[in-house]
Amino acid sequence: MDNVLSFHRGRLPLLISMPHPGILLTPAVEAGLVEEAKPRPDTDWHIPRLYEFAAELGAGTLEANYSRYVIDLNRPADDAPLYASATTGLYPATLFDGAPLYRAGMEPCAEERARYLAEVWTPYHQTLAAELARLKREFGYALLFDAHSIRSCVPHLFDGRLPDFNLGTNAGASCDAQLAERLQAVCARAQDYSHVLNGRFKGGHITRHYGQPQQHIHAVQLELAQCTYMEEQLPFDYREDLAEPTQLVLRQLLQAMLDWGRERYGR
Ligand SMILES: [Zn+2]
Repeated sequence: MDNVLSFHRGRLPLLISMPHPGILLTPAVEAGLVEEAKPRPDTDWHIPRLYEFAAELGAGTLEANYSRYVIDLNRPADDAPLYASATTGLYPATLFDGAPLYRAGMEPCAEERARYLAEVWTPYHQTLAAELARLKREFGYALLFDAHSIRSCVPHLFDGRLPDFNLGTNAGASCDAQLAERLQAVCARAQDYSHVLNGRFKGGHITRHYGQPQQHIHAVQLELAQCTYMEEQLPFDYREDLAEPTQLVLRQLLQAMLDWGRERYGR
């Protein structure tokens, strides 16, 4: 499979991972999807565009081009469930609203799915791991920002309306406590937005697996409510007027990470 990811190396020790903005489907997945799934409603829409400014800050970016309906890059390869509450797996069987993703008996076969693991999941994680290792060699530490977004209301997955900025640090295990405090402070200053740390979204596989503060790799997940930058209904349009002020806060979050790293590690 070609064109599974886009990777741009940065000049600073910060990598932004975007595992869910992709919309490419394989023929086998496309042939089986129910009608409601065809517009890929559960995509982290427009995330690369929203974070376009990050390259100019000096951060690296890694984005997935295949849809999470093919394989979910933010799940472990053994597909252990991420959350005790409702969640979706490595090979999602349902939409976020709980309805089946495939018409009966139309899921891709096991061989087909093994290929997605080898040719989509594995290259993403190899690139991520290799880049974090390079940053650590070069700077003595690495910062990982796992960038996500989701509709603000998904009754099957959580009650009520999600806060705008949902920071996740695996309940404090994926990064230094001071870094998490700095990021929370940035959100608190952004008075037009609500936020939470380690609420419903505590960080998925990427945050949990790569965030090893003892090894000087600090990972944070941001699950952003999509109403802060786009239309949450079809055709899921990007809203420049909403996105611009949201990008100011995102920029402050990334800058706060970089500033913390420079102070903590001296480079
Ligand atoms: Zn996501």
